[in-house]
Amino acid sequence: MIDNRSVIIIDQTIREGMQYRGLVFSADERMKILDFQEALGVDISQSAYPPAHESESSKVKKLCFKRESCKYNIHIAALSRAPVDDVKQMAECGLTDFHLHTTATSELLKKQSINDIFTSLKQAVQFIRSNVTGSSIEVSLLDIGKTDLDILEKCAKYLINRLSIDILSLPDTSGIMSPDQFFKRVKYISEIAKGEKTRIGVHCHNDMGMATANTIMGVMAGASVIGVSALGIGERNGIGDLYISAKCLKDKGYNLNLKIDDIDLFREYYKYIDKICYEKTGFRLLNYNTPFFGEAMLTHVAGTHATGNFGLFSKEEYFLNLLCGKNLVRKYLKKNKIEYKEDDLKRIVTKIKAMFALSVEFLKSLFFSISYQYSKILLKVIHINCSKDLIIFFHT
Ligand SMILES: [Zn+2]
Repeated sequence: MIDNRSVIIIDQTIREGMQYRGLVFSADERMKILDFQEALGVDISQSAYPPAHESESSKVKKLCFKRESCKYNIHIAALSRAPVDDVKQMAECGLTDFHLHTTATSELLKKQSINDIFTSLKQAVQFIRSNVTGSSIEVSLLDIGKTDLDILEKCAKYLINRLSIDILSLPDTSGIMSPDQFFKRVKYISEIAKGEKTRIGVHCHNDMGMATANTIMGVMAGASVIGVSALGIGERNGIGDLYISAKCLKDKGYNLNLKIDDIDLFREYYKYIDKICYEKTGFRLLNYNTPFFGEAMLTHVAGTHATGNFGLFSKEEYFLNLLCGKNLVRKYLKKNKIEYKEDDLKRIVTKIKAMFALSVEFLKSLFFSISYQYSKILLKVIHINCSKDLIIFFHT
């Protein structure tokens, strides 16, 4: 009987990350990513797509060798389509965890019958079971948001009841589903898997910014395997985020092997992925506004936020604008070691508010006449950094 309160993490940073525009992970980079994943307690690393190119096979072979020689607990998986020729290539890499994908969208069913799809899956599963000892098989039914429910049900019954695969993954490949739609569909299929050997997995794309939320809703609906990646890296704008998905599930009482309390190591892992991505593509994944790990997480601006314990972090960083209040300004002045008299605080707050209210139009008109570039720099200093000297100047 599957314990649905235990959630298996498939870190797809490497395989899905390779679908990020312009990115190819080298063998050394994959080794280092595997070290991070092992240290963080990831269950399965999905780390190659062998049929795509021989280099993928050789890289995943190296990972399997490293796993053996370092006696790592993490499992190494790779992805391919279901035809036996593809699966053979996977087996030659020394893998035991086979992740296959197929699709039964109405578009595809115009070209291929459902029975052909089932035959191909059956042959793949039989080949793996008779050639690889201790194998684990996951099958992803691509794009459940674009697959008719009756077809989805038929496929799920075949894979769960007839082939008894280990994981049936239900991906929102197009990233078009809202959390309630995703929940309903995953719940419907999860009912078929009740009492069976097959676990239900989810893998959600982020086209509508819902990937992490959908991942969590998938688990609430009955899934017990999640496919996620560091910083959500993946095709288009990516998939569910590894850390945030895991943190939300842990907070809800699910059991995970992932060491979500080791935030420093997670940060190091995320910075490493961000560095590789930036070097190869010129794009940053870890930016100021990134959930949880971005620096914006440490800023407070509204007066109300200076009086309570808002946000995730206890570290206090205050920034001024016209939304400030006495509490926030007091904290700001103290932190920046600016001397003031408590009796003057109200007056100081009024001046700061006036300064910010005026600053946009007034300073623009004042400095545009001097230099456009200079005015932009000055506005940034006032609005973002809000220099100590400037505040002293305005409040005295
Ligand atoms: Zn994907």
